[in-house]
This record gives sequence, structure tokens and C-alpha cells, in this order.
Amino acid sequence: MKMTYFDHNATTPMRPEVLEAMLPYLRDHFGNASSIHSAGREARKAVEEARIKVARALGCDQSEVVFTGSGTEADNQAVKGVFFALRGKRDHLVCSKIEHHAVLHVLEHLEKHHGARTCYLGVDGQGLADPEALRACLTDATALVSVMLANNEVGTVQPVAELSAVCRERGALFHTDAVQAFGKLDCDVKKLGVDLLSLSAHKIYGPKGVGALYVRKGTRLHSLVHGGGHERSRRAGTENVAGIVGLGEAAQLAMDGREQECKKLAELRDRLWRGIQSAIPEVRRNGHPDKTLPGTLSVCFRYIEGESVLLMLDMKGIACSSGSACTSGSLEPSHVLAAMGVPVEEAQGSVRFSLGRDNTGDEVDRAVEVIKEAVAKLRSMSPIAPAGNCGSGTAS
Ligand code: PLP
Repeated sequence: MKMTYFDHNATTPMRPEVLEAMLPYLRDHFGNASSIHSAGREARKAVEEARIKVARALGCDQSEVVFTGSGTEADNQAVKGVFFALRGKRDHLVCSKIEHHAVLHVLEHLEKHHGARTCYLGVDGQGLADPEALRACLTDATALVSVMLANNEVGTVQPVAELSAVCRERGALFHTDAVQAFGKLDCDVKKLGVDLLSLSAHKIYGPKGVGALYVRKGTRLHSLVHGGGHERSRRAGTENVAGIVGLGEAAQLAMDGREQECKKLAELRDRLWRGIQSAIPEVRRNGHPDKTLPGTLSVCFRYIEGESVLLMLDMKGIACSSGSACTSGSLEPSHVLAAMGVPVEEAQGSVRFSLGRDNTGDEVDRAVEVIKEAVAKLRSMSPIAPAGNCGSGTAS
């Protein structure tokens, strides 16, 4: 059975062109990019070419791109790096309530163990942060604000240019986690007005275990990893040359085909939502209808658990993800849906479908049939579903 993969926000398959670009650096050109002999120089050249490609995608100077070991590391580097650089002068940090844990848990850690003061910015029912609400959070001691460009669970795209402008007025730095947005939305750092931006290769059909952080020239940042003087002393450790080459290639390919691909993804996503909405009663779409990532669709199926839907779809060869995490036997509803005010019992029925470049309309249509059957079966067993298996009802 060929798998229908609707979980591209979790990770993407590597594009063949990316693998081709990487292979010589895994097989033949194994030099250390810090070595001054020809093998080393070959590796260095490849790293710097990749840096130029990433810089081009961000509209920044190549010296402002720092390669990291993941999107998570880039987020950690941004938040901790600014906090430790400004500690004593400014020790207040702000992030939205719907950040990825790679940011949220960093603020919690800095608050618990390093004396940071924190503020968590709320969002509205569609997941949008309000620049005026951010203004009210800021103090003269705010060092950094971190608000993601696009949310990984519901897809909502934040008004980052407006949010960063509010921060500039108060002298606070602004970081955006663009791990989900990069390759799909315009990530020109000047237009966004950001000081720091994180991205990750494996979300854009590149390899896992490599990411990058844009650091605006002049931004004070403490390094997290000490050792050699790699990455202009901002991230010690021998460079993952093949991974970096893969990131550069994936970034360039994403830029070249961005508009066309986003159009296709949005069409498939809308087809999936229309199909679900017309075939299944008592469903609700999460997130913003327009300000959203093209391939992301988050849906709550009332009266059942998203995790059960996910498992049943998996048995039928469809991969997606649920919004709840199973922690010690109980279903923990997603912090993103909670912050958006989605009631717990509905949030537990959430499923995220994230489409990608190889998906087709036929896959979407077949998925609708499979989802319909799975939901009907689960509702027939659900003690809280109204009698009649929700055969008729309204979708919202
Ligand atoms: N930020 C967001 C919004 C993400 O979706 C993810 C991954 O799911 C990350 C950060 C972490 O990136 P990585 O998997 O490269 O550590």
C-alpha cells in the first residue's frame, strides 16, 4: 500500500536534487572546512556557497547567517543568546502563547533557572497576535520578543512586520521562528523587520539535523556552544558540510518554485477541507481562514479523539498528526488550541493534515472517504456522541 503522506509540517522527504548535491560531500569531499589544504578548502567553498543561497532567500548578507544543528538549536541560540548578552541591563522576555516548545520551554527555563522575567502574549480565536497587546507587554527592560512567523499546528501567519515595529519603538530585539514559514512565505528579513530568524532544512525537503539562524549585523548575542572559532565564533563545532550543502540546495529550490507550489498546496488544502466539511458533520476548522500556511489544515472532529483518528488513518495508509500529545496515559490537549480558546473536549479531537509538493487531488479525495469512515466508526463507539452517529449536523 502506497502511503499518503499528509504530515509535512512534521518533516518532509528529501528532494532527489538535494540528495544529489549532498552526496559528493559524504563520499568524496570529506575535508574539514577549517583545514587549509585543498580538501579543506573544497569543503569551505561548499559551506560558503550554501551560506550565500540561504542569505539570498532571506535578503541578508551572508555574514549574517549562522548554521546550526536544527531549528530547535537556532531558537535556543536566539533567545538564550540575547538573554545572556543583555542580562543585567534587560532581563524581560516575551513570546506568544502558541510558540513551538523550542521557544516556550526556553523562556520557562530562563525564568526558572536564570532570573528572567517573562510575559506570554495571548492570541485571538484564530491564532493571531495583536500588535497593540504586544505594546502593552513591553517594558524598558524587554530584551527580546519572539513570535513565530507561521504556526506549525494551525498554520496561522502572524503580522510580524507590525509586531517587530512595535518592538523597535521600545528598543527590544525581535526574533521570529520561521521554521514552518521558510520556503512558503516571503522571509525577507528587512521587510519583516526582524533581528533574528530561525529556519530548519528538514521542513523544506532538505536533510534533518541542520538549521540556520539569521543574526542582524550588530546584534549582541552570546554563543551557546564554545570550542573552536567556527561560524565566526558564534557556533563552535566542525561544520556538517553535507547537511549545510543540502540546506543551501533546498533553500534555493524552495525559492525558485515557491509561488507555483504554494498555489497548488492551497488548492489541495481547500479541496480537503471542502471534502471533509461536506462529508462529515460536527467538524470545525482551526486557525485563520486566509492568513495561513498554504498546506496546513487543522480540524476538530467532535466527540472523538484525534489520536484515534490518526491511528485509524495510519492503518489505511494515511499519515497525519494529532494536536494532542499522550503524556503519561492522558491526552494533553495542544497548548496552541488552548491559547486560541478551543474547548478541551474539542481540542482533543483535533487532527492536523499538512500537505506537500508530491500530494495529488486523487490522494485528497481518497483521504476524505477514509476519514469519513474512520470518524463514523469512532463516533459509533463514542459514549459522548449524540445518538444517530451525528449523521446530520452543522460544520463550523
Ligand atoms: N519551530 C517550529 C515552528 C517547528 O515546527 C519545529 C519543528 O517541528 C521547530 C521549531 C524545530 O525544528 P527542528 O525539528 O529542526 O529542531
